[in-house]
Amino acid sequence: MSAFDSDVVIVGAGVAGLSAAGELVRDGVRVTVLERRPYVGGRAYSYAHPVLDEVVDSQHVLLGCCTNLIDFCARAGLGEKIRWYDRQTFLEPGGRASTIELSGMPAPLHYAGSFLRAGMLNAKDKVAIARGLAEFARGYAGASDEESVLQWYGRTRQTVGAIRHFWEPIVLATLNDSSEHCSMKYAGKVFYELFLKTSTGGRLGIPTVPLSEFYGAGAEMVEREGGEVELRASVERLEQGADGRWLVGTADGREFSARDVVLALPFEQTQRLIAGMKLRSGEEVRAGLLETMGRFVHAPFISILLWYDREITTLDHAWLLDTTIQWFFHKSRIRGYGPEQGSYIELVIAGSRRELPMGRAEILEPALAELARFFPGVREARLVKSGILKEARATFSVVPGLDRFRPGQRTRLPGLYLAGDWTATEWPSTMEGAARSGRLAAGEVVGTRERFLVGDLPASGLMRLLV
Ligand SMILES: Cc1cc2nc3c(=O)[nH]c(=O)nc-3n(C[C@H](O)[C@H](O)[C@H](O)COP(=O)(O)OP(=O)(O)OC[C@H]3O[C@@H](n4cnc5c(N)ncnc54)[C@H](O)[C@@H]3O)c2cc1C
Repeated sequence: MSAFDSDVVIVGAGVAGLSAAGELVRDGVRVTVLERRPYVGGRAYSYAHPVLDEVVDSQHVLLGCCTNLIDFCARAGLGEKIRWYDRQTFLEPGGRASTIELSGMPAPLHYAGSFLRAGMLNAKDKVAIARGLAEFARGYAGASDEESVLQWYGRTRQTVGAIRHFWEPIVLATLNDSSEHCSMKYAGKVFYELFLKTSTGGRLGIPTVPLSEFYGAGAEMVEREGGEVELRASVERLEQGADGRWLVGTADGREFSARDVVLALPFEQTQRLIAGMKLRSGEEVRAGLLETMGRFVHAPFISILLWYDREITTLDHAWLLDTTIQWFFHKSRIRGYGPEQGSYIELVIAGSRRELPMGRAEILEPALAELARFFPGVREARLVKSGILKEARATFSVVPGLDRFRPGQRTRLPGLYLAGDWTATEWPSTMEGAARSGRLAAGEVVGTRERFLVGDLPASGLMRLLV
């Protein structure tokens, strides 16, 4: 067994780990990233599906307000691999379309024109939505982490139409759980950042290449700047050495030694490593961390992938209202494949607790029937192949009351840091949350927490007068 020396070992090459590494290497720190899988990207991953004979992934989108993720992508040369959309289409069964799109009006009026024209909402729904949004005109600092979104609907007298056709789709898409499981603090943040604060915060960005290829460019950037990224390096052992350094052991018997270790893992993997680590002192710190991590719960996500022999619509993506499937992504168009290659589609069921135990046919058949209600072109097309991707541990739920348990990136064990979307970032379980956590952990390693953090978008338009 030989020990490889680094200043910092980062465990996990998801967005958090790559973001931490990207900042530290730029600062001249010797970094080794250890990733157990044969590819990077973590939960934002793609892989060659042996049965479908395709490289598949579950749709990941970003928003204009994801400043740290966008900065990471720009540094990794990924700017050209994100397609940005300023227009969102909401479809009702039968095909009626409402479009919410960016106008030239200053924030918070940038969506006002299309919102007023949207047929999916009646006048009472629109008044209720405006009343709800007005709570966040000065930001979301007053939003309570103890209140659920469901309770907020009641308190602000939201209508059934406003909930079904506006709030609930937004909450599911951004927080990956239903309103009774989500805290108003995080929903309020989403509403403020997407609809009020700036005219660009709600822009939708979609990667145009499979996700491991996308984040592979991030790993290449880390290596170009002097870091090392070791794949198939599953960390099984963590030990506090007598000299204050950390020893990190992998399943294949390699041992790494570092002054600092950043665990850039989901909460359940962090819990497992921390429970088993060998400590010289600090048992009470371990107990506290384990108790904290025990508070987190997962929310699942299901993707239904469909390949049709012809193009079924010219829309790139759409919200599907009054259905089980909530979101439609036309991946072949987003990726620029050309209509002669047919339609490659992803349907999304977010926060899919009910569907998770179901079998393939039970999920697929109703989804296909629902799809045909929105896109009649489906009836003439031939379904060439289909696949279902289930992610039981897609995200953590921002359940009411969780916020105070999200740990900071510096632990009370010298040289041990945490990153990952679940740590304290003020963001829900997202790639931006992960990017922030990585940068905050890197900042803690060099002694200045926010040193690498990119600030939020500043308020624009009329919103500048309110903050
Ligand atoms: C299906 C799905 C859809 C999603 N959609 C979106 C979306 O549209 N927009 C969005 O912003 N977010 C989305 N998310 C959430 C987003 O993917 C995560 O919030 C983010 O990727 C988390 O990054 P992370 O680095 O914190 O953790 P992870 O991505 O989980 O990275 C942790 C890494 O550590 C590695 N690892 C684990 N254990 C070990 C070990 N012992 N040794 C070495 N390595 C180890 C893992 O293999 C992994 O690569 C989605 C998630 C899923 C699953």
